[in-house]
Amino acid sequence: MGVIDEVKQRIDIVEVVSQYTTLKKAGRTFGALCPFHSEKHPSFFVYPEQQSWHCFGACNTGGDVFSFIMKKEGIDFGEALRLLAQKAGVTIPSRFESEAGKDEKERLYQVNQAAAQYFHNLLLNSPAGERAKEYFASRGFSLKTITDFQLGFSLNSWDALKQYLMERGYTESELLTAGLVIEAEAGGSHDRFRNRLMFPIHDIRGRIVGFGARVLDDSLPKYLNSPQTPIFDKSNCLYGINLAAAAIRQQNSVVIVEGYMDVITAHQNSFNNVVASMGTSVTEKQVGRLKRLTKNMALALDADAAGEEATLRGVGYENTLDAEVKVIILPRDKDPDDVIKEDAKIWQNLVEEALPIVDYTFNMVTSELDLNTAKGKSLAVDKLLPIIAEMKDTVRQAHYLQKLARLVKVSERSLEAALSRIKPSRGRGYAKEAKPEAVAQALHPLLSSPIEKYCLALLLQHPELKNRSQCLSPEYFESSENREIFTAWQQANDLSSLKDGLDSAIWEHLDSLITKSLPANQIEEKYADCVLRLREKFLRSLETKRAEVLALEAESGGTAAELAKLEEQGIEVSVQLEEVFTQKSQRRSGAKEVRNGLRKQ
Ligand SMILES: [Zn+2]
Repeated sequence: MGVIDEVKQRIDIVEVVSQYTTLKKAGRTFGALCPFHSEKHPSFFVYPEQQSWHCFGACNTGGDVFSFIMKKEGIDFGEALRLLAQKAGVTIPSRFESEAGKDEKERLYQVNQAAAQYFHNLLLNSPAGERAKEYFASRGFSLKTITDFQLGFSLNSWDALKQYLMERGYTESELLTAGLVIEAEAGGSHDRFRNRLMFPIHDIRGRIVGFGARVLDDSLPKYLNSPQTPIFDKSNCLYGINLAAAAIRQQNSVVIVEGYMDVITAHQNSFNNVVASMGTSVTEKQVGRLKRLTKNMALALDADAAGEEATLRGVGYENTLDAEVKVIILPRDKDPDDVIKEDAKIWQNLVEEALPIVDYTFNMVTSELDLNTAKGKSLAVDKLLPIIAEMKDTVRQAHYLQKLARLVKVSERSLEAALSRIKPSRGRGYAKEAKPEAVAQALHPLLSSPIEKYCLALLLQHPELKNRSQCLSPEYFESSENREIFTAWQQANDLSSLKDGLDSAIWEHLDSLITKSLPANQIEEKYADCVLRLREKFLRSLETKRAEVLALEAESGGTAAELAKLEEQGIEVSVQLEEVFTQKSQRRSGAKEVRNGLRKQ
């Protein structure tokens, strides 16, 4: 049995979930207030028989014990597996750790750690570091803060770091890969960071993935970062996340600022849920990462940047986050660093007064226009309607459409008509993506479902099926390990890049799929059958779970609104099941025709 299955067998989802929320037994299930969204009436359920969970409320999603931990702790599959394996007393074989790719990354974390230690030591204990120390002192950083963030200083030398690390057994090629040294035009290589303040950038697990570096004077470039490396991708990093994650979870909110200094000053003043984007604008990947920790996100920006960000990307963030994003508007020419240092209370107030990004855009656009004139009205509609069109959430879309209609005093119906003219180019496919994520009832609920594995093996062994994978949704895969491989595979170019993108803990499972013996012919048909069966399994399970909950609700006198919502979800599921049955019978009669045709020949 593989490690993943072993962990699943030893871990009880009821026990794990009950550490996060109070479970109450109800029939064959356990109900609770959802640990992922705030609610007064329980819509979160755990199913011990299937070892799965589902939230019928705002989350409208579910999964197995791994996906629960991933979502709750904001960690990836490999990390969740390690955490649960430890709990279950299952040892993850060390051969996973010594595989080549893992090994290389591990070396890079180590060399970065060694470099950070070296820079930190220079700052605190060398005469050359005096000026840097004075600089940090002038910014008001305490020794504790300097230690917490492992701040450092790099010497004004071309090879001090290189020599130091090579003496400790790191090779020149490792230093190049880590981006700590760069190749010189004349040949050879030299230190990348010279005479700079050093800011190690950590991942959520506290490993150093790269560095930011700032000059001490006015020379340029003011800031220099590590280049892209196997462990550093700027668009995916958040400065301070290692120190902020716990507070973000605890306060269920995050504030995103722009600079290293802003994060450090915020933390020193006990605003611990603050992180920085690694460039001027936040990326979807960063929003995706934070979403695992909280859905309450606020961006601290000055008025100009806020305007641009709100119009260009605001709704994109909201669609990724599946929730509203707020903006904290900073006083002109001031960073959070300045504001907090001046008066922490002012910062506190700014955070509390944060506006939803779309409302902010509305204010900004309309304040510049005269809405009593026809021209002003049409300009407002031109600017705001495309933003409304981008919204995936139909309720919010309706809300802002009403708001716009009131502002420009035009009937909602004519705006709707205009909206529908915009929508085809922007909103296509949204309805499909919004389908509920849920879990399926497996034959052997504790182990990876055979149909899931069969389907994945087909896909992996027959790359030609890849462009037909759109009809599969990740949520059809109940087992997190299968879901993980499926989503990674959709983005990978080939098997080896797929493997590189996956945590090594899942490789054993991946290998078993790649080597699984499969029928040799009629692959396309088998795949089509498989997709239908998978979809049916998913929908049936969802239907069963929902029906159970509905019965419980009815018994315990749930409110009419809740009952209606469950009913509605039920109708949607049965419509989709109907579709599956139709397709199945079409395929059957199609096959019969083919057989008859063959017989006649
Ligand atoms: Zn929920």
